[in-house]
Amino acid sequence: MFERINNIMGNLFGIGIIIAMFVLAVLAFKAMFRNIKRKFKPNSNNLIHCQSCRSAISEDAFMCPHCGHHYGRSSAGNSIFYCLLAGCGFLLGAFYGLQLFFEEEEVLIFIQTYFN
Ligand SMILES: [Zn+2]
Repeated sequence: MFERINNIMGNLFGIGIIIAMFVLAVLAFKAMFRNIKRKFKPNSNNLIHCQSCRSAISEDAFMCPHCGHHYGRSSAGNSIFYCLLAGCGFLLGAFYGLQLFFEEEEVLIFIQTYFN
């Protein structure tokens, strides 16, 4: 009885991790598409003031076009690459978890049918 509950709890925990992995993968891909959109349409409507010359610049700007003040933000290209990497990683993790889960479930069914 207790073992059964423990098993169900373990399975729920596994499902939770798999769902979390899928959610993270979706978020990473969403961030990637946002970065791609930003790369092809870099002029954001949100303007900020340059820290050194106070000119209005895009909040996505890597560098102030007026005075050359560098903001040290990673380029959209890098973000796209890392988002893709993270998305694929989480997706692989989710599918791996799913595979483990189903393998475990199969073993469970096998044991139940064998010992009953
Ligand atoms: Zn500036």
